[in-house]
Amino acid sequence: MLLGDDGELRPTIFAEMSALAASTGAINLGQGFPDEDGPVEVLDAARTAITDGINQYPPGLGLPVLREAIAEHQERFYGIRVDPATNVLVTAGATEALAATILALTDDGDEVVTLEPFYDAYAAIIGLSRATHVTVQLRAPDFQPDHDDLRAAITDRTRLIIINSPHNPTGSVLPRETLELLIELAHKHDALIVTDEVYEHLTFGVEHIPIASLPGAVERTITISSAGKTFSTTGWKIGWIVAPSELLAAIVAVKQYLTYVNGAPFQPAIAVGLRLPDEYFTTAAATLAAKCDILSAGLGAAGFAVSRPQAGYFVIADASPLGVTDAADFCRALPTLAGVVGVPVTAFVHPDRRNGYSSLVRFAFCKKVELLEVASAQLAGLRTT
Ligand code: PMP
Ligand code: GLN
Repeated sequence: MLLGDDGELRPTIFAEMSALAASTGAINLGQGFPDEDGPVEVLDAARTAITDGINQYPPGLGLPVLREAIAEHQERFYGIRVDPATNVLVTAGATEALAATILALTDDGDEVVTLEPFYDAYAAIIGLSRATHVTVQLRAPDFQPDHDDLRAAITDRTRLIIINSPHNPTGSVLPRETLELLIELAHKHDALIVTDEVYEHLTFGVEHIPIASLPGAVERTITISSAGKTFSTTGWKIGWIVAPSELLAAIVAVKQYLTYVNGAPFQPAIAVGLRLPDEYFTTAAATLAAKCDILSAGLGAAGFAVSRPQAGYFVIADASPLGVTDAADFCRALPTLAGVVGVPVTAFVHPDRRNGYSSLVRFAFCKKVELLEVASAQLAGLRTT
């Protein structure tokens, strides 16, 4: 995944598409980042922390104020009881959390099962750790895993089962029955569960169930999340892990040599965010759902077959009704055709498993309403080109 077809090191699809947007002036619905600031309380708290001199290395696990806020958050929203002193680690975004976890908990040749499409970092980090990547395909229209496929993929060779719910890129949310099956399979094959829940608060009328809240899961589950999406602070790179203490100790041993520590003044600010009233979280999700509707309608009017995400930042649009067979080529042409940038879903699947995904494009709707309306108007022209 790190190398292109020519064997050269290549930028991530998000960096490539953001560069394309910058060079063409097209609207960037490729990389998933909001174009508006998050809550003022959180931004102010970061400024205050800098003024107050919280500018040097924080403790290895993260500042206590944030670890306590993460523990409170798990109990407040999910009823999960966590010891901030031994079960919580602050990381440089969910990306470092994933890297430290996979590097710490796999050996050469261990199998790591993920859903596919998968967030691109998964395959890259599994590759770095020399583990073997096994996937379970998610198919349109609902992008849910087939239970028999999960039973077939998870075996005694499986060390980690990595799930991502709500899911990037498809916006699907795993239901309770699937989570229960995963717990059963993890027990049966003595595997650990890694759950990436960075979109945990951004659901559209469906319930997000953290797998660690279900019976039999907590003692073998590493929960990963990030402040980036919840508080529109993707550039701060504050993420975290909640895990049983002995697993967390192994992960800390790796994290200390990846970044050692990260983001001192942002940590107390995210603690403020995690303690905001419920209304903040519900409003953030409702605002995003409305944006999803605007862009989905625009894509539908432009001739795409549009899926219905249950959560997150992204909508998947099938460009085949527009005569598109290769979404990667289409995405390279889209800035010229419509002044919009999207990401081909093939960027989230292994090269030999592109079948069924080759006409799909991921568009981000975490943007200002006016921008989504302009993008929709520009995309409407595709019908006639
Ligand atoms: N996991 C998923 C599913 C993501 O979409 C992202 C990026 N938005 C990450 C992990 C990385 O998060 P962070 O920016 O906090 O490293
Ligand atoms: N998570 C963001 C996305 O899926 C991108 C993060 C990145 O650029 N690595 O668009």
